[in-house]
Amino acid sequence: MSNSHVKTDTKHYRGRFAPSPTGPLHFGSLVSALASYLDAKKQQGSWIIRIEDVDGTRCKPSFSEQIIDTLTSYQLHSDEPVRTQSQHSETYEEYLSELKRQKLVFPCNCTRQSLTQFNGNHPSECSSTVEASHSWRLKASPNIYQCRDKIQGLLTFTDDLKNNCPVLKRKDGYFSYQLAVVVDDHLQNISHLVRGADLIETTAQQLHLYDVLGWTPPDICHIPLIINPSGDKISKQNHAKAIENAHLPTLLRALHYLQINADNASSIIEALTQAINMWNPNKLKDIKYLPIESQDRHLI
Ligand code: GLU
Repeated sequence: MSNSHVKTDTKHYRGRFAPSPTGPLHFGSLVSALASYLDAKKQQGSWIIRIEDVDGTRCKPSFSEQIIDTLTSYQLHSDEPVRTQSQHSETYEEYLSELKRQKLVFPCNCTRQSLTQFNGNHPSECSSTVEASHSWRLKASPNIYQCRDKIQGLLTFTDDLKNNCPVLKRKDGYFSYQLAVVVDDHLQNISHLVRGADLIETTAQQLHLYDVLGWTPPDICHIPLIINPSGDKISKQNHAKAIENAHLPTLLRALHYLQINADNASSIIEALTQAINMWNPNKLKDIKYLPIESQDRHLI
């Protein structure tokens, strides 16, 4: 396999924010972006934006532009050119081929309906063929994976993988988030992931992929989720609003949920500078959820 993309500098902190452009940036994603940015900058690291638009049915280029504009308006600039996943299908195909050669993946013609008996999971290899329309799934792992998350503590994934074979390439030809995120984090030499706790459930499969590809996973941690008054995360599905660009009060409220008080700052730059000094992920430990405060309901 080509290693032309592999960089040599692996000691330096390299963090990233990797939004999927299925809508504009909302308050919850601003908080995640800030957490990854502050963690990187506190350690004099690089922070990189990556657009995760592998799902061509849900992502739109106009949202990518809007997200980057909003991040820029909050002075959150990528230290390297933004990587856009939809431009790297050949790379994902290359790694999928490697997994095919190693017989670690199998074709699957199962339908969503046929999997309802397993709650939508796909417990083991099926006898599908490549003749009919098929996805590619990773074989289930017998291993137990662990992740020492500096905010959530030790995460142990026991049953997550035994009964599920994740899709790496869909029937419609799009690569899955799981394959693309692991390949890109590896190729971009990302050393630290700081992301929302809603992604904990994806971590086991990612650790499995790192394992089969023979790569070392980055240091992974998850910040507590901000929840709306109904107890749901702020998301596009829950009709989250787009945040206003370059709006200092919004930034200060986002920092508040990261346990940072920069309220005396008079500009976005000043707030960010203070926030880098004050960032302490330990303050987020033992917080299960961050319920949205009544004064911030207009933001979500
Ligand atoms: N693209 C994913 C999302 O927007 C985030 C991926 C990650 O941080 O691992 O939910």
